Amino acid sequence: MLNKLIANILPYMPKKLIWVFSKRYIAGETIEEGLLASKLLNAKGIEVTIDLLGEFITTLNEAEDNKNQYMDIVSRFTEESIQGNFSLKPTMFGLLINKNVCYNYIREIVELAAQNNSFVRIDMEDSQCIDMEIELFRKLRAEFPGNVGLVLQAYMRRTLSDLEALNDLNTTENPINFRLCKGIYVEPENVAFKKYDEVREHFMADLKYMFENKMYAGIATHDKYLVEESMKLIREMNISKNMYEFQMLYGVTPELRQMIVDNGHLMRVYVPYGKKWFNYSTRRLKENPKMAQHIIKALFIR
Ligand code: FAD
Repeated sequence: MLNKLIANILPYMPKKLIWVFSKRYIAGETIEEGLLASKLLNAKGIEVTIDLLGEFITTLNEAEDNKNQYMDIVSRFTEESIQGNFSLKPTMFGLLINKNVCYNYIREIVELAAQNNSFVRIDMEDSQCIDMEIELFRKLRAEFPGNVGLVLQAYMRRTLSDLEALNDLNTTENPINFRLCKGIYVEPENVAFKKYDEVREHFMADLKYMFENKMYAGIATHDKYLVEESMKLIREMNISKNMYEFQMLYGVTPELRQMIVDNGHLMRVYVPYGKKWFNYSTRRLKENPKMAQHIIKALFIR
């Protein structure tokens, strides 16, 4: 209740104040800040996936601008030998306005990443986008099998059957590469599991399916229980290090992150940057009132 109230009030606070809350979770506004944060993480033995902030655009001019910014960041990563790849949200290229335009822009980015021997992850957005994002992934994977991956959300009731349906794409040469996360958007009960334990249970079931079917898993969570259960599964199933990695968001649970790194697992941090940080922060707050708690903590705990 209190979280909800805080989340509703925060978006109306001055931008400068929201920045105080948000800066711990965002590398900065510029490409240079995104690159610097990535290099600092690399220096600690951590890889990155960089994300230009922006989503649910309303005009296609924005899509072209976003594509150009991604082309720059892909080139800069190669020029500056940064250990990392790229995450993007299809709605920032106009998925909900014109699917073909969106596909062509993302294809250009994946093509450049492939030329640079790199990789692009398609983030998963809310439930209205899932079918379209899977379709996009299928099309891109057919052309660039080793250079594109997708996110699946454990809270979605459909995820295990999506995994089963997508298994037809899997090959030993190019294991299909999924990031598995809980899911951030607010969805109705008939679409998504709501109970904390139910989401955890499905997270582990999805992960087990991925390992059993020799898919590459990006285990994206800050939930200590899930991290420990995943490590247990990796040991029990004797999963080799080239078939999984852990992933976390920039600025979140650095101690748990370090524990994973110290245990010899590959860690990748999701580094968001860009001018759209205000929309990103306030949208996340409205969608997930639990975030308000973390943000309030970030204000007081330095
Ligand atoms: P939770 O139970 O939410 O969190 C576990 C603990 O972690 C909390 O108790 C708290 O201590 C800490 N924690 C979690 N979040 C924060 C925070 N923001 N600040 C401070 N502490 C925090 N969702 C999508 O829907 N689509 C995506 O494409 C997507 N990509 C993601 C990529 C990565 C690399 C990660 C890590 C997450 C991504 N998410 C995405 C978000 C994800 O779905 C969850 O909403 C988010 O990770 C919180 O779930 P959790 O597993 O960490 O568990």
